[in-house]
Amino acid sequence: MNVPISALLQRKGPAVHSIAPHLSIFDAVAEMNRLRIGAIVILDSGKLAGIFTERDVLHRVVGAGIDPKAVRVSEIMTRNVLTIAPETTIEEVAALFTEKRCRHLPVVSNDSLIGLISIGDISRWVADAHRAEAEHLKNYISGGFPT
Ligand code: AMP
Repeated sequence: MNVPISALLQRKGPAVHSIAPHLSIFDAVAEMNRLRIGAIVILDSGKLAGIFTERDVLHRVVGAGIDPKAVRVSEIMTRNVLTIAPETTIEEVAALFTEKRCRHLPVVSNDSLIGLISIGDISRWVADAHRAEAEHLKNYISGGFPT
């Protein structure tokens, strides 16, 4: 858990799915469905302008009775995006997800977007780490008592 998020990114890859702010909410959702992702980053001239997630579809679109074809994603997205540095540890990221009540964190280094971490990525990493630790302990125990 004391591992930097850059290690997880190395395993996951740097792909960050993004769209332009002028696209409609309908098109943004179509892209999220096509890619099977729960959040999409909005880039304006290459700069991080906002984030739009499935929770926004639930609350700010469907819940608010907005026509997804008539409204641009830039009008609905969250503009004040919380980001993390690649040095942030997995433990710190897990705490941020709980504290900030969000499930997606873009990773930014020297002003450029180098990845996106979801709460699912963290759960998978922790589950894998526990599995590896259990395996290690099993081997240690079985090797520790020679017959
Ligand atoms: P999520 O749990 O990630 O689906 O997002 C819950 C709410 O937080 C939505 O309104 C998102 O637009 C917003 N949100 C998600 N990720 C971030 C982030 N990294 N920074 C700021 N807001 C976010």
